[in-house]
Amino acid sequence: HVWRSQIVRQSFIDYFKNQQKHQFVPSSSVIPKKGEGTYFTNAGMNQFRPLFLGAVPPGSVMADYKRVVNSQKCIRVGGKHNDLDDVGHDLSHHTFFEMLGNWSFGDYFKKEACNMAYKLLTEVYRLPPHRLYFTYFSGEKSLNLLPDEECRTIWLELGIPNNQILPFGMKDNFWDMGETGPCGPCTEIHYDHIGKGGGASLVNTGSAEVVEIWNLVFMQYNRESEQCLRKLTNQHVDTGMGLERMCAVLHGTKSNYRTDLFTPLFDTIHKISKVPVYGDKVGKDDTTGFDTAYRILADHTRMITATIADGLLPDRVGLGSKVRHVMHRAIQQSIDVFHCDKTLLLALVDQVSNSLGETYPEIAKNNQKIKDVISLTEDNYKRNIEKGTKAFNKMMNREGDINKLTGNMMYELHDGRYGYHVPIDLILDLAAERNLQVDEVEFESILQSKKDGSGHTPDLAADKQTLNADVLEKLRCDGITTDDSYKYRYTSKD
Ligand code: ATP
Ligand code: MG
Ligand code: MG
Ligand code: MG
Repeated sequence: HVWRSQIVRQSFIDYFKNQQKHQFVPSSSVIPKKGEGTYFTNAGMNQFRPLFLGAVPPGSVMADYKRVVNSQKCIRVGGKHNDLDDVGHDLSHHTFFEMLGNWSFGDYFKKEACNMAYKLLTEVYRLPPHRLYFTYFSGEKSLNLLPDEECRTIWLELGIPNNQILPFGMKDNFWDMGETGPCGPCTEIHYDHIGKGGGASLVNTGSAEVVEIWNLVFMQYNRESEQCLRKLTNQHVDTGMGLERMCAVLHGTKSNYRTDLFTPLFDTIHKISKVPVYGDKVGKDDTTGFDTAYRILADHTRMITATIADGLLPDRVGLGSKVRHVMHRAIQQSIDVFHCDKTLLLALVDQVSNSLGETYPEIAKNNQKIKDVISLTEDNYKRNIEKGTKAFNKMMNREGDINKLTGNMMYELHDGRYGYHVPIDLILDLAAERNLQVDEVEFESILQSKKDGSGHTPDLAADKQTLNADVLEKLRCDGITTDDSYKYRYTSKD
């Protein structure tokens, strides 16, 4: 049969429920609860953190969880696992994605977990074993962690040839939730889309040919700091499989974007914008830039939809600022690349609702609200571009015939003396349109010098979350991002 995403997701859940006696637990919100951290839910395990740490509140339903299966809405924007800069530029990373997972809380451990995973992949999804690569943890001396030979042996005993089992270090085979929290060595399963042999050298290289599909983490520690791991009282299993990647595998394509989770969105973009149909080209091969823009727009719409459905609104501070930032990026693609008005984004929200609304009812239920928020944000965004352009033109009139924007001019535009706090991204765009050089280095040093001096210029480069409401009010940065866009532009360089 055709492996539509709905079937891929359901097969995973049914397999663990029916064949492996797991209990289904619904996805938690993408917004962490109080005390659960300041970033979005980035993995299926987040809601189970108290179980790993032995800190389940009395009376909680969690107390009975032994074997659990779920499909979790995840977002990787900000925090330890931040994929925003990659999204659109490859075929396998999204800001919003679904993670299918199974858990053992002090119940089964490595051997059973690997056996269960292998059986699902080869018997239910019917993947050919020669296309699969298995990695295991190679140890870390500074933390007194030994190589996970036990894991290697388990894969060998399942009949996997030696050359398909590969050791990797901390970066790839030791999973941490964040700077602190539950963690442990893992074994990951990678799929070779080519299947002609030689895939081993492509594992964990970022290649589109050999892609990580499933991570099986053996939770044994709590990370208390960079160099301090404390052993947990019990051993647990925590796994995460990327639904979009598994769908791509089962659709016989390297690209997550060639699956039914994205094609209806692309059809909509094509129909409304009339740009050429999506071609799945990446990087230099995407000569028109349209394919990258298709991916960013569709991806971001899913992220925006999921966050607003869970009750978040675009904001200038906290997690809401991430939503706002992603919204502005989406609106920018829609206007600048696809030359569309808001009908495009609103139509895309309907498509996301069609594809995810049944699995995550809050997405269907909040459809109108999501569209209202996007609609207002897009109106605001346009108005602010107008204001910013006006301020910019005012300066140009005063300066006369120039070919360079000095750091000081940038600062003046940015600090509002031409009637509007022009966001840095917009300044750069407007300067580029007029072929003006810009002195970003000088601008940066002026910003730095004003930072703590008189006190009337807030630190625009600082993390938004540390700025309080009063400072922001003084900034009167109304509408589009000022400090957000600034921050992202510069942190991505660091
Ligand atoms: P990668 O190395 O490809 O960035 P990861 O090691 O960061 O993935 P994990 O934290 O192990 O990912 O998450 C478990 C699974 O979730 C991965 O094996 C992958 O299938 C999926 N996944 C992770 N990040 C993304 C993403 N940004 N978009 C889509 N799927 C993802
Ligand atoms: Mg990653
Ligand atoms: Mg990885
Ligand atoms: Mg991984």
